[in-house]
Amino acid sequence: MTRPKNIAILGSTGSIGCSALDVVRAVEGLNVVGLSGHSQIDLLAAQADEFKPDWVVGTDPNKAGTFPDCSQKSWDFHAGDESLGKLASGSDIDIVLAAIVGIAGLPSAWSAIDAGKTLALANKETMVVAGQQLARRATETGAQILPVDSEHSAIFQAMQAGNANEVSRIILTASGGPFRDFTTEQMKTVTVEQALDHPTWNMGKKNSIDSATMMNKALEIIEARWLFDIPASKIEVVVHPQSIIHSIVEFTDGSSIAQLSPPDMKLPIQYAFTWPQRVPGPSPKLDLTSAVTMELLPPDFERFPALELGFEVARFGGTAGAVMNAANESAVEAFLNNEISFDDIATACRQIVEQHNFDPNPTLDDLFAADAWARQEMSRWMFA
Ligand code: NAD
Ligand code: MG
Repeated sequence: MTRPKNIAILGSTGSIGCSALDVVRAVEGLNVVGLSGHSQIDLLAAQADEFKPDWVVGTDPNKAGTFPDCSQKSWDFHAGDESLGKLASGSDIDIVLAAIVGIAGLPSAWSAIDAGKTLALANKETMVVAGQQLARRATETGAQILPVDSEHSAIFQAMQAGNANEVSRIILTASGGPFRDFTTEQMKTVTVEQALDHPTWNMGKKNSIDSATMMNKALEIIEARWLFDIPASKIEVVVHPQSIIHSIVEFTDGSSIAQLSPPDMKLPIQYAFTWPQRVPGPSPKLDLTSAVTMELLPPDFERFPALELGFEVARFGGTAGAVMNAANESAVEAFLNNEISFDDIATACRQIVEQHNFDPNPTLDDLFAADAWARQEMSRWMFA
């Protein structure tokens, strides 16, 4: 019998983090040794009580002090971002699940790669900001990056039907979000509640807004570019409202291989945890006893301008991903606070990307500086 895999779940209190714990509850041989949460301290403490990890990290400095006394418990509680890096690189850890949202997840993902860990990557923003650097560092340290984003997991699975040099296209599927059939005019007045109401996926707020603008697909184009080392010219997007076909890989001979399953993140999370094996788990299976409709439709680049921006940024590389991501993170926050309108999000992101001082070969520090600059530009844009 092989020994259990030791897993650290960074962002365990979020949507992906909670689904990951459902996978651990259901699948044998997975051992949670570390958990991290930000502001939901009560949930983090309850997870620690149930899973009894060695380490628990609270990253929100305003909330960490409220973590219940654990002097009688079997785990240690640590506060702050630095502890997160230590958790991600701990010697007893086999797999780090990066499930923090936004660039806040980049330093700990970097620590895991630096330490040669297997990184199960949900946090797509990390790859958008520093995909080139992370992929290079992983080659140096022998770290493995396994995708958790459902489309990228599907591509990773489909890729195994051939060799990387036999891939002619990868086709990312997109649900199209709640405004798939809205006119440009209708999109000007959508509310936060409407934008958060995704038709097929149940996700954290940031990812839900990104899906509504289709900025999520823009981020995923860039994520795919670096994860699979494939040029933007070989990446395409197709709208698939039912979210059953999670992506498609086309090979040079004309065969297209797809991965299908009901829309549930537990499956791609589990695949990253158990790869290269497949084992029974908690994810639902397709019900084909009644008729199932699966549509594939071309995307509308005019109503969803974020998409074209995603392709451009994937072609540029360098600092472009960091700038687009930071502008988008700030814009989503501003939209959630009712400070800008829904259609402002993509408009502002394009303007900020176009204005920035492009560096084709940035260091990690340059990327953080580009991120800070873009956030400042976004505040300026809002009050211009
Ligand atoms: P979420 O908002 O539900 O959870 C985010 C997690 O990050 C929480 O545990 C929170 O405590 C933590 N966090 C927030 N701010 C932090 C900070 N500053 N420092 C440290 N930790 C912080 O988000 P989610 O939907 O679970 O998404 C997580 C990541 O996975 C995102 O990058 C998202 O794009 C990606 N993803 C999500 C889904 C999905 O279905 N939810 C699918 C694919 C990819
Ligand atoms: Mg996705």
